[in-house]
Amino acid sequence: MKKIAILGSTGSIGTQTLDVVRANGDIEVLGISAGRNIAKLEEQVREFSPQLVAVWDENAARDLAQKIQDTDTKVVSGMDGLLELAAMPETEILVTAIVGMLGIRPTIEAIRAGKDIALANKETLVTAGHLIMPMAEEYGVKILPVDSEHSAIFQSLNGEHKEEVHKLLITASGGPFRGRKRADLEHVTLEDTLKHPNWVMGQKITVDSATLVNKGLEVMEAKWLFGMDLDHIQVVVQPQSVIHSMVEFKDGGIIAQLGTPDMRLPIQYALYYPHRRYLAGDRLDFAKLGQITFEEPDMETFLGLPMAIQASREGGSMPTVFNAANELAVKKFLHREIRFLDIYDIIGQAMERHIKIEHPQLEDILAVENETYQWIESRW
Ligand code: NDP
Repeated sequence: MKKIAILGSTGSIGTQTLDVVRANGDIEVLGISAGRNIAKLEEQVREFSPQLVAVWDENAARDLAQKIQDTDTKVVSGMDGLLELAAMPETEILVTAIVGMLGIRPTIEAIRAGKDIALANKETLVTAGHLIMPMAEEYGVKILPVDSEHSAIFQSLNGEHKEEVHKLLITASGGPFRGRKRADLEHVTLEDTLKHPNWVMGQKITVDSATLVNKGLEVMEAKWLFGMDLDHIQVVVQPQSVIHSMVEFKDGGIIAQLGTPDMRLPIQYALYYPHRRYLAGDRLDFAKLGQITFEEPDMETFLGLPMAIQASREGGSMPTVFNAANELAVKKFLHREIRFLDIYDIIGQAMERHIKIEHPQLEDILAVENETYQWIESRW
């Protein structure tokens, strides 16, 4: 039995990870966690009997402990709880399906405890990739990508030599507003933004897909995961979301991974790497599909991508500012406090005023995150 723990078990990636566990029957879930969704956590505790459940919110943790006092599952809370879950002695893999930079400390804790990381939480690598990748090497742990684009690249690189890669081609659906111009985005609503054409995902990443911030975060994530510089990472819009990403090699040959849009495939691939298992679900039918089309991303309208590339080129603490500003802006957009285009203004202004720290350590990253939040809260 493979033993795992899941950070963010109640979310989109978390519940699909549990679908994979359920379908295979040979993975033991030793730990689960969430922010405050204790109704879902209780269901999961009763189905999977984990040793530990970590709830961020203290009151929710207390309520859950009451509800499941007839079980053997221990309830912990706050950051200490997430850290305890990350380093549980018997787990082999930590699935990081939590949303946002909050994932950094538990991910580092898990690496130090020798756990492989099935990484969905891209914000962690975006802000702390320069700390996490060398640490993973030092502790001999694998960082197994769950993001579909990075999993596609990881699969395309199987058996190849890294030094023979020419560039990575990250595909993008273009999001719900593909083809629109800035003026068309003035009055788009939250409901319009949450209608992703191909994928059903958590709310934050769905907004990030509409702004193309998600694609920017993925470029930054790919830079760290695969050790490529930004000049050798290209974004290609492929609206049908059939090609999940590609690798071009020095001889011009391109290897891609294709499939229906189903996150259970990259999740399962990360959990069983390097093996493949049967996965029930729709198969790609090329005759029905008819065509796969390509476009360049519209960097003039969807500023999330060029701003991310700028933050990544500047490096140091700038990606943290980009990410933190986006996290708070998206939260405000989800609460209907700002308009869609304000997200770009908030990120742009936060980056403009920031005085970069060249080699930020973990404490610097967390301090810059806080300072960015405070600055935004004082102005918006
Ligand atoms: P969701 O919003 O669906 O789920 C987020 C999870 O994190 C929930 O379990 C949530 O708990 C938990 N969480 C939120 N706040 C806290 C907190 N303070 N402490 C502990 N847990 C918390 O997100 P997704 O599953 O969509 O995304 C998760 C990550 O995976 C993101 O980084 C995203 O970018 C990445 N990703 C997602 C993809 C997708 O298809 N969804 C694809 C590729 C990457 P609660 O339910 O209590 O709020």
